[in-house]
Amino acid sequence: MNTTSEPSFRQSVDIMFNRAVALMDLPSGMVEKIRVCNATYTVRFGVRLRGGIQTFTGYRAVHSEHMEPVKGGIRYAGNVNQDEVEALAALMTYKCALVQTPFGGSKGGVAINPLDWNEEELERITRRFAYELIKRDMINPAQNVPAPDMGTGAREMAWIADQYRRMNTTDINARACVTGKPLNAGGIAGRVEATGRGVQYALREFFRHPQDVAKAGLSGKLDGKRVVIQGLGNVGYHAAKFLEEQDGCCITCIVERDGAIICDTGLKVEDVRNHLRETGSVRGFPGSKFIENGAAGLELECDILIPAALEGVINLDNAERIKAALIIEAANGPITAGADDILRERGTVIIPDMYANAGGVTVSYFEWVKNLSHIRFGRMERRQEEARHELLVDELEKVKTAGGNNLVLSENFKKQYLHGAGELELVRSGLDDTMRDAYQSMQAIWHERADVKDLRTAAYLVSIQRVAASYATMGL
Ligand code: GLU
Repeated sequence: MNTTSEPSFRQSVDIMFNRAVALMDLPSGMVEKIRVCNATYTVRFGVRLRGGIQTFTGYRAVHSEHMEPVKGGIRYAGNVNQDEVEALAALMTYKCALVQTPFGGSKGGVAINPLDWNEEELERITRRFAYELIKRDMINPAQNVPAPDMGTGAREMAWIADQYRRMNTTDINARACVTGKPLNAGGIAGRVEATGRGVQYALREFFRHPQDVAKAGLSGKLDGKRVVIQGLGNVGYHAAKFLEEQDGCCITCIVERDGAIICDTGLKVEDVRNHLRETGSVRGFPGSKFIENGAAGLELECDILIPAALEGVINLDNAERIKAALIIEAANGPITAGADDILRERGTVIIPDMYANAGGVTVSYFEWVKNLSHIRFGRMERRQEEARHELLVDELEKVKTAGGNNLVLSENFKKQYLHGAGELELVRSGLDDTMRDAYQSMQAIWHERADVKDLRTAAYLVSIQRVAASYATMGL
């Protein structure tokens, strides 16, 4: 982004926050308390690498401690800075409040390009950064629980968890110090796909409400909608894959780092991802047209635009040219405050980040609870003899009333009879419920209040109200 008149990411979040509080009746002291970032810890740490000492800069911002632990990812990217982690931490506060995960907001990062370092080096950098945070209680199951974000994943979370365990050998809840871990290190089924899955569930919920679909100038179902997606990282890949394979969406353009590919009859996301893995680029994907200027892909005619990469990609420079009827913010902060004004004026419906990408933290919450309870979800629900018998009698009754001669047992029955509900099923249904509930809480305000014209403002109203209520009870 090269627009000089554009506010910073953090200012942009503040502008959106201020727009919402202007419609609320909160004491100004409370507004200020909620808005500001409580503290940001900056650490410069040295790691012995490649025959010398390399110094890195890392951050952990804590936005709001109205609930503890505070929660939010750790990002590895070359341009990570204080303004960015503070903006992201604020969004975590509002996101957690909106989907009712009992956390305050936090975010961290290290200013490195992970591609510049090999696995062993990354492990040493991660462990050292974790050490710096752990010794200041900025990683702790009761106080501050990180998770993956851009440039990090389950591997880094496993190193962090192990580092914490080594430094806190008597903490029985050590595993709950970080989420997004691999399954064999205390992770939970469905966490890797969770943010993309949440985007899918959010869109499904949106399309269950014809009057909302009409507000975007669209009609009908999700099936057949033309989708442009930016970013085929963890979030974008899963969102696009599920929408294509399970909801009948037509992915007409994928925007990546080095350009975009277009195919009017629809791209196969899994194949594109494989091509990207093998060649390092989307260029040359069979049956598609490649354009060097990837950002132009965002401006294509489509029904749904999904920015799933960086913040600030839709800004004062290109907002006028965006043609999508509906934008769902899978990334955090992809639309600047200025661009948001332009799009809102024009009637584009925006499903805001704090809702759209909340699937990650929702499943992180399940993982944290799982770690604290020391039992896999569903384990105690395995059906006992009697329950199985009842299930069987019910099913046979159904088969009988259906009147067929052949005994056909439903797949659902077989699954439940044999295993009870598995962890993945429970995680998915818990996530689906969460996404439906949170949508409806924003929607109620969007529909009922004439002065609330967009979903983002509605989302802020719900979240700020909840954070304020919890500060009030705490007795500030
Ligand atoms: N980094 C993710 C986010 O921005 C997940 C955070 C978490 O699970 O704590 O929401």
